[in-house]
Amino acid sequence: MTIQIYNTLTRNKEPLEPVHPGRIGIYLCGPTVYKEAHIGHMVGPVIFDCIKRYLTYSGFEVTWIVNITDVDDKLIAQSQERGISMNQVATEMTMDYCANLLALGVDQITHLPKATENMDEIIQFIQDLIEKRFAYAVDGDVFFDVAQDSQYGKLSNRKAEDQQGEGGGAAAKKRSSGDFALWKAAKQNEPSWESPWGPGRPGWHIECSAMSRRILGQTFDIHGGGLDLMFPHHENEIAQSECCHGQPMAKYWVHNGLLRAGEAGKIGGRADRQQGEPQCDEEESAQKMSRSKGAGGLRSQIARFGGDRIRFCLLRTHYRSTIVFSDEGIAEAGTALDKFYTFFERYERITSTSFYLTGTPTDPRRLIRRRAAGDFDPAGDGLLIELKNLRDSYLAKMDDDFNTGAAVSDLFQMLSVLNKFIDDQKLEDSSHDSSAMASFLRGCETLRELSAILGLFLKPPQVVGGGSGDDDRVLDDVMRVMIDLRTAAREKKDFATADQIRDRLGELGIVLEDRKGETGWKRQAES
Ligand SMILES: [Zn+2]
Repeated sequence: MTIQIYNTLTRNKEPLEPVHPGRIGIYLCGPTVYKEAHIGHMVGPVIFDCIKRYLTYSGFEVTWIVNITDVDDKLIAQSQERGISMNQVATEMTMDYCANLLALGVDQITHLPKATENMDEIIQFIQDLIEKRFAYAVDGDVFFDVAQDSQYGKLSNRKAEDQQGEGGGAAAKKRSSGDFALWKAAKQNEPSWESPWGPGRPGWHIECSAMSRRILGQTFDIHGGGLDLMFPHHENEIAQSECCHGQPMAKYWVHNGLLRAGEAGKIGGRADRQQGEPQCDEEESAQKMSRSKGAGGLRSQIARFGGDRIRFCLLRTHYRSTIVFSDEGIAEAGTALDKFYTFFERYERITSTSFYLTGTPTDPRRLIRRRAAGDFDPAGDGLLIELKNLRDSYLAKMDDDFNTGAAVSDLFQMLSVLNKFIDDQKLEDSSHDSSAMASFLRGCETLRELSAILGLFLKPPQVVGGGSGDDDRVLDDVMRVMIDLRTAAREKKDFATADQIRDRLGELGIVLEDRKGETGWKRQAES
C-alpha cells in the first residue's frame, strides 16, 4: 500500500512519505472570523477531515491544525460597525464556524490556534527574518523583502508584483511594490500589541508561518488550502518560512477546488478573479449565496438538508475539481443517501440493532477497524469475496490522491450486493440460515468501516423539522407549486392570473425572479 498525493509544488502525484515515519502533520489555512460561515468555507475542512480519517485508518498518527485569523482589517471594520470589540466579533464567528463544522461531521481537527494567542511566536518569527535580512522595519511597519528571496514564486509561478498589497501610506514605505507586510503599525482606535517596532498587529501571512512552526515544526508534511490561497498567501508563507529556516516549509502542498453555486454564480471562491484583483471577496460570496434561490445561510441549509447530505455532496467530487453546489445536486445527494437509510432500516429489522452502533462507538476516531490490521479473509464465503473485491477497489481509489468521488461508487455497489443477499437468503424471514446471517453481519461491518472513512453514517441523520428549517422546506415546496401555476397561466397567455399570483406573493414579502428558462423566489427581507 502506497498512498499517492498530488503536490501542487511539483504538479505531480508523489508517494506519501512522511517527514517523521508513522506521523503526519497537516496545516490547513482556516477562516477569518468576521462574518458567519457559508458553504464555501466548509469545502476544505470536510475534505481534510476525510483525508485525516483515511491517514489515521492507514496507520498514521495525524496532527491536523486549522488556524483562526482573529485579527484583521475586516474584523476591525465589523467591530466598528457593530459597536462591539474585535474579540467579541471573533468569538461569535468562531463559535458559528465550529458549530457548522460539527454539523457537517468535521470533528478530527487537533488544534484551532488563534493569531491573537500566538503573538509572541509571531513577533519572534518577524525578528528572526529581520536578523537574517529578509525583512525590514520602516516607521512601525515591517515588510518582507521579496528581492532577497531568489525562489519566490515557485509554488504559483507568479511574480511578487502581482499581489495586491498594502496601499496608501504603507506602499510608499516599501522597497519594492511586491514586498508584503509582516507587521502593521496601529492606526488610531485599532486593537494593537506591543512589539519591538511599536504597537501594531501582524499581517495575515506571517501568522500561518509562525503557528505552523510552533505546532508542527520547521518542515511538516501537508499544507492545505483552497486553490484561491495559492497566491499570494501560500507563496508568501513559503517565502517567510523557507527564508527563515533554510529548509522546505511543507513536503506536499495540497489545494482543494472551490465551490460554485449551480446557478447563482460562485459562492466560495476567488480563483476566477482577474489576477491582481483584491483578494477579499468572502463577503461578496456570502451575499451571492444568500441571494441564490432558496439558499439561506449555512445554518439554514444544514437545518434543511442535514449535515450528512451536504457532506456527501462535497465528497462526491474529486477534491481538486470545482464542486458545483446546486439544488439539483443536493436533491440527487438526498436520493442517493436515502438508499443507505432504507438499507439501515432493513438492517435494524433483521438484527434488532441499529446500524449506527456497528463496531466500537467508544473509538474517538469512530473507525471500527484499521487498515493496518491487515486485509480481511473472506475464507471462501461468496458474499465476503464480493465485498472484499469492492473494498480493495475502494481503497485503491483512496490511495490514488484521496479520490472520494470515485470511492463512493464502491459503497453503492456494496449496498446492492448486501440488499441482494438479504433477498436471496430471505434474511427478513424468521427461518433464515444462521451462517448466512454471520456473513451478512461481517459484510455490514465492512460497509461501516469504509463509510466511516468518509465520516458518513456515524450517527442517525438529524431529523429535519420542528424549527425554521422545516418551515423553509415546506415554504420552498409551496413556492414551487405557486411558480408552476404562474408558469402554466403565462403559457396559456392568461397574464391577468399570472400577474395576480406575482402581486399577491409580493404582498406576502416574496419576490419572484424570472431568470433564463426558470423562475426563482426570495423573501423581500433578504434583498
Ligand atoms: Zn495560511
